[in-house]
Amino acid sequence: MTQRPDLLARLALHAQQRAQAGLRRQLHTIDRVDGVWLERDGRRLLSFCSNDYLGLAQHPSLIAALKRAADDDGVGSGSAHLISGHRLAHAALEEALAEWTGRERALLFSTGYMANLGVMQALLERGDVCVQDKLNHACLLDGAQLAGADLKRYPHADVDAAARQLANRGDAPVLLATDGVFSMDGDIAPLRELAALCQREGATFMVDDAHGLGVLGARGEGCVADAGLDQNEVPVLMATLGKALGCSGAFVAGSAALIDGLVQAARTYIYTTAMPPALAAATLAAVRLAQSETWRRERLHTLIARFRQGAGQLGLPLMPSPTAIQPLLLGEAQTALEVARTLEDQGFLVTAIRPPTVPQGKARLRITLSAAHTETDVDRLLEALSRVPAGHPV
Ligand SMILES: *Cc1c(COP(=O)(O)O)cnc(C)c1O
Repeated sequence: MTQRPDLLARLALHAQQRAQAGLRRQLHTIDRVDGVWLERDGRRLLSFCSNDYLGLAQHPSLIAALKRAADDDGVGSGSAHLISGHRLAHAALEEALAEWTGRERALLFSTGYMANLGVMQALLERGDVCVQDKLNHACLLDGAQLAGADLKRYPHADVDAAARQLANRGDAPVLLATDGVFSMDGDIAPLRELAALCQREGATFMVDDAHGLGVLGARGEGCVADAGLDQNEVPVLMATLGKALGCSGAFVAGSAALIDGLVQAARTYIYTTAMPPALAAATLAAVRLAQSETWRRERLHTLIARFRQGAGQLGLPLMPSPTAIQPLLLGEAQTALEVARTLEDQGFLVTAIRPPTVPQGKARLRITLSAAHTETDVDRLLEALSRVPAGHPV
C-alpha cells in the first residue's frame, strides 16, 4: 500500500485542533419554536440570535399561503426553473421583489449562498478583479475565488483603500462587492461613496443586502434604496428571503439584461431545483406584510434604540450599529463562550461568534433584535448583561 495521506484522518485532525483551540462548532437541536421563545433540552430560552427581524417566520398569513399553495401545487417544484419548475408563484414573487427594490427584474435563487456564487461566476472571468470589503460574508469571498477572479480585500469600510485597489488595476474589468449591512457587525457600508467610486472607475457595483431588506427604508426596501441609490448606481443587488422575510431563498435584482444574462450563465440557477412554489407563495405574503406593516420596522427600531441606550448606560462594549444586529465585542473566543453560557443559565440564547467567522481577538456575542421581542424582553436581557462582567473572564 502507498503512504498516501488519508483524507478522513486529516479532517478528524482538523476537528481535534479546533476543539483544542476552544473553537469547536456544536450543533444543537431546537425542539420547539414559539416566536422569540425556543425550547431546547427541555428548557425554554428567550432567543436573541435569530435573523427573523420582523417576526414573520410564524405569521399566520405566511402559513396560510404556504398551505394553500401546497394544496394546489404540492410540495416540490419537480425540476429546475428552466425545465418545468418555474410556476406562477415564482413569477409573482419575482415581480413583487423587482417592484419593491425599484429594479426592472428579479431572479430567484434557492439560497443566498448560491445567488452570490452564481452572480460572480456569471460576471467574472479568470484574471478579472473582484474588490471586496474584508468583512464581507463568506459566500461573496468564495464566489470570487470559485470564479477564478483576482480577489482584492480592502480594510473594513475603507473607501480610499478600495480606490487604490481599483487604481492599481486600471485596465481590468472590476466587480466591487460589499455587504450592505455587515452580518457580524451590523453597520452599514459606505454605499454612496462606493457607488461614486465605481462610477468614476467604470467598475460594476454589487450590494448584498441580506440584513437590510425589510429592516431599512420607509417600505423596507433595504439599504440601497435608503441610501438613495438606483439601478444605475447599484446595478447588481442581491438580498435573501430567509432573514427579515422569515422564509428561505434569495434573489438578484437589476436590469432586464443582467437578469437575462444570469438565466443564460449562472450555474447555481441553471443546474438546481427551483424552490418549492409554496415557499414562493409564502414569501410573497411576507413581502406584502413587510411593505405594509410599517409598525414592525418602527417597533424594531424602537427596541434597537432602547437596547443601545441601556447597554450604553451599563458601559457594555457595544459595537456601533443602527440595525437589528447588535454585537457585544468581548475579545477572546473563550470569554465570548463563557458569557454566552452564563446568559444561557439565566434563560437567554445568544450565540458567541468566534474566529474564523470574525477576526482573531474580536470574538463577540451577536445579539439580534426582532419586532417580535417586547420591551420587557430587551430589559430582561440588559438586566442579565449587567450581572455579567462583559469583557472580563467570568
Ligand atoms: C445569510 C447571508 C447570506 C446567505 O444567505 P442564505 O440564504 O442563508 O444562504 C449571504 N450574504 C449575507 C450577507 C448573509 O448574511
